[in-house]
Amino acid sequence: MTLTNDTKSREIFTRKSLYWTTLKRLDNLSILKHATQRKVSRKMVEELVFDNTEERRRRRQNGVGWVEVIVGSMFSGKSEELIRRLNRARIARQKVQVFKPKIDKRYSVEEIASHSGMTHISKPVMTAEELLAQIDEDTEVVGIDEGQFFDKGIIEAANDLANSGKRVIVAGLDQDYMGKPFEPMPQLLSIAEFITKTHAICVKCGATANYSQRTFESDELVEVGASGKYEARCRKCFIPHSDKPTNHD
Ligand code: ADP
Ligand code: ZN
Repeated sequence: MTLTNDTKSREIFTRKSLYWTTLKRLDNLSILKHATQRKVSRKMVEELVFDNTEERRRRRQNGVGWVEVIVGSMFSGKSEELIRRLNRARIARQKVQVFKPKIDKRYSVEEIASHSGMTHISKPVMTAEELLAQIDEDTEVVGIDEGQFFDKGIIEAANDLANSGKRVIVAGLDQDYMGKPFEPMPQLLSIAEFITKTHAICVKCGATANYSQRTFESDELVEVGASGKYEARCRKCFIPHSDKPTNHD
């Protein structure tokens, strides 16, 4: 039987779409194998394997978020790094919500601020519970500054938010003025998928600073708004109790 041109092209079309449907059912590795055998074009491969649309990405992550923690001493750039990540998320048009503990009255209350002057709007909250209560369902990124001032509930809160598909970014001091782990940051570090350690410059010798030196007398663990009363110091120059401020004259 001879086929007319019309019937022939219809049959080719049917075969192609059948092949296409079969390919779509294959896993990426098999599609790539087909590609190396030149059974599918590069364009088809790109469309099938390297589809990186928002929808596909969300499906690939299975609706699961993650926790990022940024830790270091004072002046190490934690807030700067947090604000940088939040700004980029906003450029990607993701819904961002930012929180800080009410205890920190440094700079303006409705903002998180870096020592270099970078700012980002944020909601001050008293507790982790209050933070959770303010989260909108469609929020994709949750930023938290000064994580060390939160109650222990922040650990479960971060886990819950990540489990519900959100990206959680927490910045905070990992050590107090005595060089001791600053809770709940150690616990947050242990549940985080991604950890960034930032460093300052030692004001005494210029080495890498990992410590926040208190330069005034106080037994309080938290001295908020004590601007000018802490210095970034390296391991050698750090004295785990108050020390006189460094004189650069
Ligand atoms: P953190 O949140 O860790 O306290 P910030 O992000 O608020 O840090 O501030 C980082 C900025 O602090 C730096 O970009 C720099 O401008 C300033 N800064 C002041 N002192 C120091 C120092 N000793 N080492 C590094 N940066 C310092
Ligand atoms: Zn030093």
